[in-house]
Parts: sequence; structure tokens; C-alpha cells
Amino acid sequence: MADSYDLVVIGGGPGGYTAAIRAAQLKMKVACIEKRPNKAFGGTCLNVGCIPSKALLDSSEMYEATLHKLARHGIRVGSVALDLATMLARKDKVVSELTGGVGYLFKKYGVTPHYGTGKLLGGGKVEETAVDGAKTVLETKNILLATGSESTELPFLKFDGKFVVSSTEALTFQSVPKHLIVVGGGYIGLELGSVWKRLGSKVTVLEFLPRILSISDGEISMEVQKLLSKQGMEFHLETKVTGASIKSDQVTVTAQSKDGKELSFTGDRVLVAVGRRPFTAGLGLDEARVKYDPKSGRVEVDEHYKTSAPGIYAIGDLIAGPMLAHKASEEGVVCVEHLAGMKPHVNYDAIPSVIYIWPEVSSVGLTEEQLKEKKIDYKIGKFKFAATGRAKAMDETDGWVKVLTDAKTDRVLGVHILGPRASDLIAECVTIMEYKGSAEDIARCAHSHPTLSEAVGEAARMAWTGMPLNS
Ligand SMILES: Cc1cc2nc3c(=O)[nH]c(=O)nc-3n(C[C@H](O)[C@H](O)[C@H](O)COP(=O)(O)OP(=O)(O)OC[C@H]3O[C@@H](n4cnc5c(N)ncnc54)[C@H](O)[C@@H]3O)c2cc1C
Repeated sequence: MADSYDLVVIGGGPGGYTAAIRAAQLKMKVACIEKRPNKAFGGTCLNVGCIPSKALLDSSEMYEATLHKLARHGIRVGSVALDLATMLARKDKVVSELTGGVGYLFKKYGVTPHYGTGKLLGGGKVEETAVDGAKTVLETKNILLATGSESTELPFLKFDGKFVVSSTEALTFQSVPKHLIVVGGGYIGLELGSVWKRLGSKVTVLEFLPRILSISDGEISMEVQKLLSKQGMEFHLETKVTGASIKSDQVTVTAQSKDGKELSFTGDRVLVAVGRRPFTAGLGLDEARVKYDPKSGRVEVDEHYKTSAPGIYAIGDLIAGPMLAHKASEEGVVCVEHLAGMKPHVNYDAIPSVIYIWPEVSSVGLTEEQLKEKKIDYKIGKFKFAATGRAKAMDETDGWVKVLTDAKTDRVLGVHILGPRASDLIAECVTIMEYKGSAEDIARCAHSHPTLSEAVGEAARMAWTGMPLNS
């Protein structure tokens, strides 16, 4: 007889596993199916995304600091050597501890793990095919699709796993490429480009659009390009990649400049980081009559994550919105809480995003470009880290905090931070935006001295009064 559940989650990433745990906490009988052959839950994020990339970013930052920053602090070190094998092994250990943690949480809250590929059979039935081909049918009242996304491949630049690679392989290079060509100046390309640059690669970024980080605040993307160029990264904007050929372990990427000039770049590895696409192969969407946009592949849902098929829901990278782990988790939690009769919602205006290059970039809410497009009258408060005691003490003075407010009401509409630990500083701004707070609200909160958070307070004060106190 088929196993029967209240909820079967297909996909064990941050969207799926978080939803499964929350549903079990709410007393549902839950199964979560994951197809990774190593039986590791955690999805793209824990296995080949957020976590391994941040582990390598942190390690490579330390290497870079040891080589180039410690001397300024009066610390002399002897010869410094890179032990890449240990760095990669540490990253793998971080990943396995965290994926193991999901297994522990499943046990703790009573989620039944299933290891195999899930397929919709229609009528509240999910077929699970295990790695050895064995099939099981699960019966369930509700199904949550959380199958995430995969790297987008360019038809003329196909992944071969060795020379032309996706982010997954760029997390496991066994030696430092001499020259890494990165196609795509989005956050994944810049983060992984930063890792290998710090470890010794020459890095060349080819971007089709007129600027890198095309959806970030324009001023930030320009400054990031300046700072990364200073670190040695090379950028070619408005450059359309047209193909690649491999000869004697070298890849030559051909491209066209804006004015039609033929260009070529030769390196030993090419990372293609031009975006990600919802992963729906073999899921049985058509058979189950789940509507999706054939162009983007995104599953269509209503505000409660209901798809066009009764009893089937979808969240995370599979649906519209920013492809971020915390967005997927929020949606998972809200979706199952709604199933349990609660009335939560996700506030898409207050979803932060972070780019873990150095200095870091973080943002929440609208950019200046979006405010102009929406014809909203706005004020800007901007405060440089160079004017804060803590950034000076750290010797990390690049960047600023920019607070954008409604010119009439002072309500915070967006915050964009470029600077040290911008990833942590954005949390305060998310809270303020969630509570529809004003720049005055931020400015009137005491910020510990000396901390980087003072720059947030001062930028808010600047937006509110037109004048900071310390600059
Ligand atoms: C290099 C890189 C770095 C990133 N860094 C960050 C970051 O710093 N911060 C951030 O917020 N986001 C980051 N992301 C994005 C983040 O990883 C995704 O937004 C997030 O993982 C999406 O979660 P999800 O649950 O929707 O899907 P996923 O995490 O993709 O999980 C989906 C899971 O479903 C499984 N699956 C698919 N089909 C089936 C099936 N039919 N049956 C069973 N299982 C199936 C897949 O194997 C996968 O494990 C990064 C991504 C990459 C690639």
C-alpha cells in the first residue's frame, strides 16, 4: 500500500527542507524527497551554492589579508603558502556538517526523508524513483514543489565540466587556474571570480550589459567595478560572447564588442555565470496540469503559492522573484503555515540581498534607478565608512551607506550598502522597512560606538535632516 502523508515536499533545498520542518512542527505528517545521489539535503544552497562559496570566500579573504593587509597592522609573517587541498577540504567539511544538520532536524521534528526523484502522478500521488530504479508511490493531501534551479547554459558555450564550467565546478577546481574567464558580471561570477583572483588567478569578466551587477543600485555597481579593478580583475562590458574553442588545455572565448569588433580571450578555465533557470525536468508538470511560463520555466502561483492544479503548491527558485535562499525559506514557511490555517505573508519589498565580494554589498528595497522609473520623489542620505572610527580602526574604509527615503514622509524606501560587513549591517534596515519605519527612526536608535553600524545611523540622519553629525 502507498505511504500516505499530509504534505509531500519535492526538493530538499532551503525552500523545501524549511517548509517540511515547519509543517512537521505544525503537526502535519510530512515527507521530503531529494534526488541528490549523496542523500544530502540542503539543495543548491548548502551543497553547491551559498555555503561552499562563502566558505571559499572566507578562506581566500584570509589568504589575501595575510599576503596584503597584515603588514599594515604591524604583523609580519614569514613565507605564506596556499594549501588549496586543505582549503577545499575545509569547505567540504562545512558543507557536510550543515547538510547533516538538516538530517538531524528532520529526525528531531519527524519529517520522513525520501531519497529519490519525485514525479507528479496527479490526484494527490507522487512517484519516487530511487537511485537503484526502485519506485514507490506516496499518497498525500498536499504537494509542495521546491525543486529549485540549475545554471543556465549558453547554446554556443556548453558546459563540459572541465574547461567550460558552471559555478558547481568552479567551487572544486583542484588547482588555481592561471587565467579564469568569467562570462557574466552578476553576483555569482564576481564572488567566484574574487575567490580565484585572491588565490592567484588572472580573472577577466565579460559582460553583455553596459554594467556589472545590473540589478544593483547603479552607483554601487560602478564603484564595485572600480574596486575590483583595483584588486586586479579585468572587465569588458557590452561584450557579447559568441563561442569558444579548446586547444591544448586552453580555451579561447570569442566575443564581439559593442562596435562590432571581433575579440578573443584565452584562458585555462571559463566560468559561465549568466543566470539560473527553474529545474522542472521529469517533474510531471504537464501531466499534473501545473501551469508554468514556457519561456522562463517558472511555475505560476497565486499569493498563497497555489499552482493551477488543486493541492499542488510551489516556492523558491522555481517561481518568480529573486533567486535567494532566504526568499525560498520564507515562502516555504508561509506556504505551509497557510495550509495550517495561519495568515502570514512574505513582504517582497523587504527581502535583502548580499554580494559577498570584498568590500561586501547589501541592499534592500528600491534602487535610485527604480525610484526614478516609478517617478517617486526621494531623498538620499549617504555616509562614507571612511568617516567612521571603526572602519578607520579596521583599515577598511572603502564604500558607503546610502539610505533612500520618500521625500514627503521620510519613510525608508531602500538601503544600499557597499562596505565592510555590509552583509550584517543590512539587517537593521530590513527590520525598519518591515515596520514601514522612517530614516528618523533609524537615526534616533542608538548605534554602539565605535561600530560600522554608525554609518547606517548617520546615512539615515543625513536623509532625515540633510546633515550627518560626524562628517
Ligand atoms: C554559487 C551560488 C552561490 C549562491 N549564493 C547565495 C547566497 O549567498 N545567498 C542566497 O540567498 N542565495 C545564494 N544562492 C542561491 C540559492 O542557492 C538559491 O536561491 C536557493 O538554493 C534556492 O532554494 P530552493 O529550495 O528553491 O532550491 P534548491 O536549493 O535548488 O533546492 C532544490 C532541490 O531540489 C532537488 N530536486 C530537483 N528536482 C527534484 C525532483 N524531481 N525530485 C527530488 N528532488 C529534486 C534538487 O536536487 C535540489 O537539491 C547561490 C547560488 C549559487 C549557485
